[in-house]
Amino acid sequence: MYDRFSRKIDYLRVSVTDRCNLRCHYCMPPDGIKLLPQKEILNFAEITEVVRTAAGAGISKVRITGGEPLVRRDIVTLVKMISSVPGITDLGMTTNGVLLEHFAEGLADAGLMRVNVSLDTIDPLKYSEMTGGGDLNTVKRGIRAAVDMGLTPVKLNCVVKGSSVNPDAEGVALFAKENGLQVRFIRQMDLESGEFSIVEGGEGGDCRKCNRLRLTASGMIMPCLFSNVQYSVRKLGVVEALRQAVNHKPRCGSLNSQNSFYNIGG
Ligand code: SF4
Repeated sequence: MYDRFSRKIDYLRVSVTDRCNLRCHYCMPPDGIKLLPQKEILNFAEITEVVRTAAGAGISKVRITGGEPLVRRDIVTLVKMISSVPGITDLGMTTNGVLLEHFAEGLADAGLMRVNVSLDTIDPLKYSEMTGGGDLNTVKRGIRAAVDMGLTPVKLNCVVKGSSVNPDAEGVALFAKENGLQVRFIRQMDLESGEFSIVEGGEGGDCRKCNRLRLTASGMIMPCLFSNVQYSVRKLGVVEALRQAVNHKPRCGSLNSQNSFYNIGG
């Protein structure tokens, strides 16, 4: 499917939860958030129906996000359901890696193809500070497990302030090089002020070539991360919500004052 600006829309990012087991300072408030009531979160059948309908309309790439997707109960079952949808040729996940060691084999068996792991520093103390208590070694073991299970290429998402020329980012780049991983630098974004830029080493943030839609955990299809426009699959039905989202996809992002990264999935 194509939008009004002749951009091919073939990528759907699916947020499966607003919950997370870390508290990264630029994403989740230290005291946590007001969680979505369970009944507002799409169940597996609803998520799979959105993916199936989207695949029928031309979506071929799906990325599972959160919050932290691996805290969603039975996540391996959902991966299996999505990977069995005809037309989905690229199925990935963005995770903070904390539970990856435990889930890597099950995810690979269920049909997941690759993972992006959030990693902003390889300094264990700084990592713990930045994430509100995360253990870097657990994440490193998770990355190793993902490589061993063939969830490759493993890409590291490294959030930077301003530029990637700083000790933390350079440390992550070296770690990636030493372990045969890829790294992308994501400049810290601000939804409310509309501050964003093109991902260094990736595709995100380039509005001219934007190919993506987002599904939030509460069933909103968003044509753009930096926009308040969203369509409810529960209210409109999946076909109509998708159609409206593609037809109202803005030429470029502006700002988003209604959502947060933890409930959109970045
Ligand atoms: S700001 Fe919106 S249009 Fe631009 S790249 Fe991001 S999602 Fe696409």
